[in-house]
Amino acid sequence: MSQTVRTRPEGSGQALSEAYDTALLDLDGVVYAGGNAIAYAVKSLATARSGGMHLAYVTNNALRTPDVVAEHLTELGIPTEASDVITSAQAAARLISEQVPAGARVLVVGGEGLRVALRERGLEPVESADDDPAAVVQGFGGADLAWGRFAEACYAIARGVPWFASNTDLTIPSARGIAPGNGAAVEVVRIATGAEPQVAGKPLPPMHRETILRTGARRPLVVGDRLDTDIEGAFNGEVDSLLVLTGVTDGAQLLAAPPQHRPTYVDADLRGLLTGQPEVVEAGDGFRCGGWTATADGVGLPPARAKSRAWGRLELEGDGEALDGLRALCAAAWTAAGEGTCQLDGGKALARLGL
Ligand SMILES: [Mg+2]
Repeated sequence: MSQTVRTRPEGSGQALSEAYDTALLDLDGVVYAGGNAIAYAVKSLATARSGGMHLAYVTNNALRTPDVVAEHLTELGIPTEASDVITSAQAAARLISEQVPAGARVLVVGGEGLRVALRERGLEPVESADDDPAAVVQGFGGADLAWGRFAEACYAIARGVPWFASNTDLTIPSARGIAPGNGAAVEVVRIATGAEPQVAGKPLPPMHRETILRTGARRPLVVGDRLDTDIEGAFNGEVDSLLVLTGVTDGAQLLAAPPQHRPTYVDADLRGLLTGQPEVVEAGDGFRCGGWTATADGVGLPPARAKSRAWGRLELEGDGEALDGLRALCAAAWTAAGEGTCQLDGGKALARLGL
C-alpha cells in the first residue's frame, strides 16, 4: 500500500454528511456508551440521514446479532434496519466460507451473533471438537461463556483445524468498568495451542470489505472513537475517517498517533458530521487553525541548544474554539513526527484547551 503520510487534519468546505455518501459508524463511544445514547448523537444522525447520507453501523462485537443491535438503536431514537448493521461475526463468516467447503461444520466459541452469521453463509454451527468441524471460530461470548468452550477450540485446533477470530479487542467497556474482550479470550487459546488465528474484525481488511459489500458505499466516511481499530481500519481500507472524542481517545493519544492512526478529520462528537471542517494552514514555523497557532518547539535543534528552548514541547498561542487548537496541535505534532510517533510534550497546550 502506498499512502502518503498524513501530517495534518484536512479541511472540508462542505458538510461531511454531504461530502460523503455513507457514514460507517462505530457504536460504542460514538453512538452510545453503556447502553445510552451519547450527547447529540440522535439528533445529528437524524439530520445527516434526512439530508441523504446513508448510515451504517460497524461493530467488532460478535455477540449480538444485527437484529438485536438495530432494535437497540431504534429504541434509542435512531431508526435502524438490521441490514444497516455490520458485525465482525459476518466478516468472519464470509472469511471462513471462502476457505471451507459449502455447508461445512464450524465449531463456535462465542455467542448467537456468530451462529446467525455462519448460517447466513450456509455453514453449520457445531458445539464440539468431536463434531468434525472444518473450522473453529471464536467471538465474544459474554459473561456466560464457559471455560470448557476454550477446551473444545483447543482440541480441534490441535488436530489442525483452521482457527478464526471475529476480532482481537483485548477489552470491552461495561457499565462497571473494563472487562476482558474477545482478544483476551483469543489469547487463552493462543497460549494453550501456540496457533495463530485469522482475524476478521477492525482494523483488518475482511471487516472493511464486508462493510463495503453490504453498504455499497462509493464514498464512505469511517466514524470512530478508537485509533487502533476504527481509524486504522479506515487507513487500511484507504478511506477517509472522522475521529470523535466521545469515546476512548484523548488529545494526548491523538497527538502521538503514528501515520496509520491519524484520522482525516477530528471533531468533538457527531455534530461534526453536519458541518464543514476548518483548514489547518502553515503559519511561520507553526500551524494555524481558527484563532490558534501551534508550534513544535525545539524540533531539529541540537540537544544542547534545544534544551534552553524547552525542547520537546508543543506550544500553543491564541484563543478560540478548543477543537481548532487541537487540530493545529495535530499538525505541529504529526509534522514533527513524520512517519514516527510524536514524542513532544503537549500536556500544557492540551490543558489550555481543556482537552
Ligand atoms: Mg468504539
